[in-house]
Amino acid sequence: MRQLKPRVAVSITELIVVLAVIGLLTAIIVPIVVASRRRASGAACQAHVRQWSLALSLYTLDWDSSYPAASQGAFSHSETTDETTWIKLVVPYVPRGLVPSCPSIRTPGRLQRYRGSTAAIGYAYNARLNYVVGSADRHRLSGRHEAVIQFPALTVTLLDARVGMIATRSPDVGITANELHGLYAVDFTPELLAQPEGGRRHEGSAMYSFADGHVKQLLPTAFSTSSASISRLPTFFP
Ligand SMILES: [Zn+2]
Repeated sequence: MRQLKPRVAVSITELIVVLAVIGLLTAIIVPIVVASRRRASGAACQAHVRQWSLALSLYTLDWDSSYPAASQGAFSHSETTDETTWIKLVVPYVPRGLVPSCPSIRTPGRLQRYRGSTAAIGYAYNARLNYVVGSADRHRLSGRHEAVIQFPALTVTLLDARVGMIATRSPDVGITANELHGLYAVDFTPELLAQPEGGRRHEGSAMYSFADGHVKQLLPTAFSTSSASISRLPTFFP
């Protein structure tokens, strides 16, 4: 005679308890995983900015202590500017010619092409490191000499920036950034940094490198005149 297996009865109460436990564990684990991924992304970004910053230093050693131009050649406001000039100039100084990019770029659809390969970079160069030659509406740009930088520990060289954004113009440099070309060499004013579309990819903050070579993660408020004494504020002006 065959013996029937005893039927396991699961009551609704037991089911609710199991679901509640699963829900509770998810609620605990998910934020931990998200936070650790964010931290890892910030650390990777910091390492990448440091690589670019080091490459920038090597460039200046080779070029009579002058920074690279953000956008080289003559152009007018109406022409499309090549905001990737600095990348082309500095990339030979990056190990193996790789293009380190921010791991937290949200718009991978807008990619930067270099030497036929595609890489999203997501870093901007301080366009105020340009030296302007020419008239107001037609510029020729080259990089400034290191000696003009009064406070290297406070002067921003590179930073996290959104890929593609509204056109903005530096009053004394005349560079425009547009949606198509992405933001690689743009005038980053404190006002712009305070906007939500600024390059604040790391928990509301962004990675910055300075002319003395150090890299720091800063909130946009670090540029606010109300946050610290003016003599200690990071700046984009050499
Ligand atoms: Zn980043």
